[in-house]
Amino acid sequence: MELKDDHRPGMPRGVSVLSDFDGTITLIDSAEYLLEHHADGDWRAIEGMLMEGRITIEECMRMQFEMISIPRDVMLRELDAVILPRPGLHDLLTRCAANNATFTITSAGLDFYIRHFMASVGWSSVEIVAPAVTDEAGRVRFRFPPRTNASARNFKEDRVLRERADGRLTAYIGDGISDLWAALSADLAFAVRGSRLHSELERCGKRHGAFTDLREVADVLFSEDHFPAMSSSAPEFMQ
Ligand SMILES: [Mg+2]
Repeated sequence: MELKDDHRPGMPRGVSVLSDFDGTITLIDSAEYLLEHHADGDWRAIEGMLMEGRITIEECMRMQFEMISIPRDVMLRELDAVILPRPGLHDLLTRCAANNATFTITSAGLDFYIRHFMASVGWSSVEIVAPAVTDEAGRVRFRFPPRTNASARNFKEDRVLRERADGRLTAYIGDGISDLWAALSADLAFAVRGSRLHSELERCGKRHGAFTDLREVADVLFSEDHFPAMSSSAPEFMQ
């Protein structure tokens, strides 16, 4: 590969931090909250099919949100009252910016709510990779980002593979089963402590960091001691 800049061979071309939204950046899963309160049907059965690997996250969201028919303004009003950022979010984003690491949200959730939430916490500039949600006949419809890598098992992993193919050291942060492929393909994986992703990464034997506060992720990513070591191996204290 020909290098056109001052990039040193063997060193990553910067750091890309990719993160799930619901339950990772936030403490409560906004989609689950809406389904719990407004779904007309057995949305948990659909969730079970996702957990068992019988359907994809794309199919899951489409099927679940067909059970909901409330307007966007009602969704936003209800979610604003209950969804809080995970502690350490501001610190992580500030330290990503200070260290020239890109931060991108990859979420199967409601794009308009994620944009609304990120603006409300002062980070409207963060890139969001999420399905475009449109209203059709009073219900929301999801159009997922097209995949660029044929081997990607969902759009989250697709983005991880793209960042890595571009030579960036890629960290993935998440909590759910839909984050597993992306986390397994990332150079560094972080899981919310006690989450489904946490147990799956342990089961798969993938080295990862577990966290409750996003500062813990920032401390690993941007520690003077550990940052240089990330290109070849994860920090020692990662499990
Ligand atoms: Mg999640």
